[in-house]
Parts: sequence; C-alpha cells; structure tokens
Amino acid sequence: METVEDIVIVGAGIAGLTTALGLHRLGLRSLVLESWSDLRVTGFALSNWTNAWKALDALGIGDSLRQTHQELTGAVAASIVSGLPLSEMSFQVKAKHGYHEVRCVRRMVLLETLAKDLPPGTIRFCSKVVSIEEAGYFKWVHLADGSILKTKVLIGCDGVNSVVAKGLGIQRPTFTGRCAARGIAEFPDGHNFEPKFMQFSGNGFRSGFIPCDQNNVYWFFTYSSSNKNKDMGEEDDPAKMKQFVLRNLGNVPKDWVDVVEKTELKSITSSPLMLRWPWKLLWPGAIYKENVCIAGDALHPMTPDIGQGGVLLEDGVVLARCLGEVFLRKQSGEITTEEEEYSSIKKGLEKFAKERKWRSFELITTSYMVGMMQQSSWKVINFVRDNVLSSYLVGLLLQKADFDCGKLKFS
Ligand SMILES: Cc1cc2nc3c(=O)[nH]c(=O)nc-3n(C[C@H](O)[C@H](O)[C@H](O)COP(=O)(O)OP(=O)(O)OC[C@H]3O[C@@H](n4cnc5c(N)ncnc54)[C@H](O)[C@@H]3O)c2cc1C
Repeated sequence: METVEDIVIVGAGIAGLTTALGLHRLGLRSLVLESWSDLRVTGFALSNWTNAWKALDALGIGDSLRQTHQELTGAVAASIVSGLPLSEMSFQVKAKHGYHEVRCVRRMVLLETLAKDLPPGTIRFCSKVVSIEEAGYFKWVHLADGSILKTKVLIGCDGVNSVVAKGLGIQRPTFTGRCAARGIAEFPDGHNFEPKFMQFSGNGFRSGFIPCDQNNVYWFFTYSSSNKNKDMGEEDDPAKMKQFVLRNLGNVPKDWVDVVEKTELKSITSSPLMLRWPWKLLWPGAIYKENVCIAGDALHPMTPDIGQGGVLLEDGVVLARCLGEVFLRKQSGEITTEEEEYSSIKKGLEKFAKERKWRSFELITTSYMVGMMQQSSWKVINFVRDNVLSSYLVGLLLQKADFDCGKLKFS
C-alpha cells in the first residue's frame, strides 16, 4: 500500500531541523529530506541574539547551547580607517522581552543539537528533491534517485537555491553586489579577548570578530564584488581570500589581524550575498500556496549585516506551531475528512505567512540599509556614520533582536 507522509521538509539545515524539532516537541512526526550524505555545515558560526535564544528555549535546547557558548557583554563599533572605537554598547540591558542575551554559536554544534533530539529515521540523507507535482489534496515529491513520496504538507527549507520556491513560481534571489568571507580561528590554549562583538567599517569594507567560547573566534569580512558566480579569483581560493582580507583590514588593531592570520585555510569560505527584495514577500503566493510553503533562506535570503541568523529559528518555531494546531486537531478527532484536513493545512500555512511576512520584510530591509551604511566608501556617508550614526546602528541590532516568537504550546 502506498504510504502518505503528513509533513515532508526539504533540507536539513537550521530552518528545516528547527521545524522538525518543533513538530516533534508537539508530538508530531515529520520527514526531513536532505540531499547530502550528512549534516551539511555552510559557514562556521551564527550570532544568536535574544530572539534566537527565545526560539531555542521554546525548542528546549537553549540551556545545552548556553553551556558551550560564551555570553557576550557588548558590542564595539570602530573605524577601519583609524582603528579607533566610535561607540560601545552594553548587551546587559533590559528590553521589552527581558534582558538581552547574545552568544555566537558554532554552526555544527547547533545543527547537531537540533538533530540529536529527533526520533531515528526523521532525517533521510542522500535524498535530493528534483521536482514537485500536484496530486489532489497531496503533493508528489520526486527525488533524484527516481523515488517518489506523497505528502499532505511540503515545506521548503532548502536554502537560497530552493527547488520548492521554484516550484511555487518564486524568482531566484538577487545578487547584492557584495560578498562575505567568513572564518573561524582556533586557540587550543585559549584566547584573551573580551566577550565582545568587535566591528570595523569604512573604505567599502566591514569586518567583525566574535568569540564563540574560550577557544574559538569567528570573524567575517564583507566587500563589494562583481564576481557573482565566484568563477575565478580570490573567492574560489581560501589562500587568496585570506590575503585579500589581510590586505584590506585597514587599521584594525593587530590582535584582530592575528585572528585572521591564525585561521587555517580549511576554516575560511567566501560566498556572494543574495537577498529577496522585501516587497516581493508581500505578494500573494510568495510564502505559501495551497499545502506548500517555504521558510529560512528559501523564503528570505538577506545580507548578514544585522547578524540575524536567529530568524531561521523563529521561522521553524512559528511554522511548527501553525502546523501543530492542525494535526493535533486531527488527532483529537475534530478534523475527519481529507477535504477538511487540506483546508485546515492551507489555513495553518496562511497563518504562518501572516506571522512571518512583516518580520521578514523588516529584517531584510534593515539589514540591507545597515550594510550599505557601514560598508560605504562615500565621504559624506562615512562622516555621518562615524560621527552620528555609529551608536544608533549598534542599538538597531538590539532593537531588532528584541522579539519573542512565542512558545510551542497553545493557549
Ligand atoms: C558559503 C556560505 C557560508 C556561510 N557562512 C555563514 C556563517 O558563517 N554565519 C552565518 O550566520 N551565515 C552564514 N551563511 C549564511 C547561512 O548559511 C544561511 O543564512 C543559513 O544557513 C540558512 O539556513 P537554512 O536552513 O534556511 O538553509 P541552508 O543552511 O542552506 O540549508 C538548506 C539545506 O537544504 C539542503 N538542500 C538544498 N536543496 C535540496 C534539495 N533539492 N533536496 C534536498 N535537500 C536540499 C542543503 O543541502 C542544506 O542542507 C553562509 C552561507 C554560505 C553560502
């Protein structure tokens, strides 16, 4: 007999695993299809702000990640030209949703922690989705190995080049004209940096350094580039990329330059920065259509300028809650027919889209504007940024992080 899955999630990245874990916490099974043969880590670390910790606590994994990652006490914005601090801000302040909490979490640790609590068999590796097909109240999901799955709900958490988004007729994200080099430096005997987020901007560049724990310091360096496809040059070659970053760090103090120097080539990557123009999220069908929706980078690729990787976690918690409502009503016997179930699923996904639309719009827009300001090489903008806006920009990061995606239970 043909098996029908309730919920299929494409992609075992942060957004996909968060959604699966959220559903599991509500007592619901999902199947995660991942094209790679293992958990795939793109990049090294993720700055998790207050909103991310609210989501991690809702999933029940906040405390275990707190144990292995240092809390940051504040942020310092400095000039790449002078190397001198322009403004400093404490993270130890109370906001609408309680005291702020910021930690830089290693991506592999986060992925493994999300995956660890999932029931065996939830993630099916080596399962690349190639297309989606209508099947009445269901969707057929076609895999590269020729197999086909039938599902009641399909969720695309398959990243910036999402096949599911393509199936919904959504255009590919746009290249911003900027790229980001990222790396992580290991200090086996410990480092002596203060637990602060240091960032330097100007001359068309922006760099940042964040301790994850006593032994690892994450860094990034964003720059303008016309080389969207990374087809040649520094972006393909970590050794050249490292030299490029070192050449352009400006007057960043030597201790931070040494962090880049110390980074092994296997711990350096570079990627083009893509975004979905925020107004496109407001169009009908941009987030969900019938029983299919997208989340994470598939939905709102954005520049990393406000460090809001936590938005991936928020998506997963909200989506699990919206779908949980539907399937728990089915379990309690409130929903009886296939038609009722299909219509409730559509309503659940509509609710998810409503909750996430403006939040995504706001974050993509803010991130883009902050990036433009911070990376600008125009003299007038530089003057305004360095003399007036620098503390405002750091404050903006805290303001956007003051968000609670809510718990995984129903009132
Ligand atoms: C090279 C690179 C480095 C980065 N480094 C950092 C960093 O250091 N810090 C940071 O904060 N952000 C970084 N980013 C951005 C960050 O990776 C994304 O914002 C984040 O990973 C998005 O999470 P996601 O779960 O939505 O998608 P992803 O992490 O992209 O996960 C998508 C998953 O879906 C799988 N998949 C894709 N297509 C299919 C398919 N057809 N069938 C089945 N599975 C599929 C992929 O293999 C992947 O596991 C980096 C991005 C890139 C490209």
